[in-house]
Amino acid sequence: MTQGSTERITVVSPHTEQPIATIDAASGADVDAAVAAARHAFDHGPWPRLDPAQRIAVVGRLTEIYAARGAEMAELITAEIGAPSTFSRRAQVGLPTAMMGALATLAADYPWQEERAGFFGGTVRIRREPVGVVAAIIPWNMPQLLIVTKLIPALLTGCTVILKPAPESPLDALLLAEMLDELDLPPGVVQVLPGGAEVGAQLVGHPGVDKVSFTGSTAAGRAVAAACAANLTKVSLELGGKSAAIVLDDADPATVATGVRVASLANSGQVCNALSRILVPAGRAGEYVDALAAELAGLRVGDPADSKTQIGPLISRRQQDRVRGYINAGVEQGARLVVGGAELPDGIDRGWYVRPTLFAGADNAMTIAREEVFGPVLTVIEYRDETEALGIANDSPYGLAGSVWTEDIDRGLALAAGVRTGTFGVNQGYTMDPFAPFGGVKCSGYGRELGREGLDAYVDAKSIAVATPR
Ligand code: NAD
Repeated sequence: MTQGSTERITVVSPHTEQPIATIDAASGADVDAAVAAARHAFDHGPWPRLDPAQRIAVVGRLTEIYAARGAEMAELITAEIGAPSTFSRRAQVGLPTAMMGALATLAADYPWQEERAGFFGGTVRIRREPVGVVAAIIPWNMPQLLIVTKLIPALLTGCTVILKPAPESPLDALLLAEMLDELDLPPGVVQVLPGGAEVGAQLVGHPGVDKVSFTGSTAAGRAVAAACAANLTKVSLELGGKSAAIVLDDADPATVATGVRVASLANSGQVCNALSRILVPAGRAGEYVDALAAELAGLRVGDPADSKTQIGPLISRRQQDRVRGYINAGVEQGARLVVGGAELPDGIDRGWYVRPTLFAGADNAMTIAREEVFGPVLTVIEYRDETEALGIANDSPYGLAGSVWTEDIDRGLALAAGVRTGTFGVNQGYTMDPFAPFGGVKCSGYGRELGREGLDAYVDAKSIAVATPR
């Protein structure tokens, strides 16, 4: 499925800092050839013209093949990006496997065609037709989950797909390509092009691509949106976040601490919907800070292949330096360091590790409260009343996720309505649900994945009206 080139990508273990594989990257000519093949498969091949039930059956076969090789995939992701092995099994692989089945269920109920009574009389037929050649661009942090949220809806709707994984995590995408090969899909229906930002930029700007589905940083998302504007290519953007957990004064500190830790420090803090700003009532701040401190101080940091590890290394030295820089900025700007710090974790002398770190007494204007850290760092900010809490939650350039923690669900739902984000959790971090739309507002991007809306994103609705014979 990949095509030869002279560029090479070396994948380096975040735990040992040693190379684990070297593979070919796609060249400019490979990108052109892949778009031509995807174009041909879409414009002339059988795939977009199949009955949806036939495509659903193909996704069903893929799900079986995928589930059978789940352990292998989880091990590979742990080696490649350093995700703790329990998290790899449960979320990096278990979740996408479940998503495949759930998305196929949604497709079975999807209104591929419908008829409506027209306003002027007669019937309007509405066909939901595949949008065309899709370029799916993925970051490294949840590589298979993010591939599946794009690839499966695109396939179910009859699109052809060119998938570009991040240069840090091409190996899991190549293992998936091996599984896709077993399906004997028509040539050009799915192609995997490993490469960096240049390969992504060439794909995004390619006139043969009909739709770009991008997940990554807000900075890259801006460049992608600009490139898509030039060709009027459709685009959806799933970008960064700086989500708030609003803790109301009736919430149990230990429950909040565990819930926030699970939502925010899974994958060593490299999750887009992490609840990285914890807003606590000033009158009870000490109790919540103590509970969070106990939770973070007890985390096991180390070899991601060890099933007892809770925090593994970050993806790269660059990311490690960045996160330690944020910790130093927090200290310099006057936040109180409660747990962790910028020094390397005890007993670790190699690998891109960072101490799980908790700041308290922070101000929402500080760098650690404004920018996405993408590491195991939580920042506690105090508020005086609910109005102020809401104001702080909304005072962010981002709008991906959020949460409220309270015994009183109605109070929680009222606050949920006031926070400007695409997703929200009451007494939980938001977890991607295949039956519900996922996405952001503001600088967290636009468009929705998953749910029925996630299928809508890969179709164009065509209205057909037939003149009534006189
Ligand atoms: P990144 O933006 O650097 O890279 C993401 C992908 O885009 C990579 O495949 C990269 O090669 C490619 N790319 C970079 N510049 C490009 C360009 N100009 N044109 C086309 N492709 C380009 O992001 P990253 O550091 O790999 O990932 C972390 C970011 O992803 C974080 O900001 C995180 O919040 C975000 N993220 C968002 C979601 C979500 O669903 N909203 C999910 C996971 C991660």
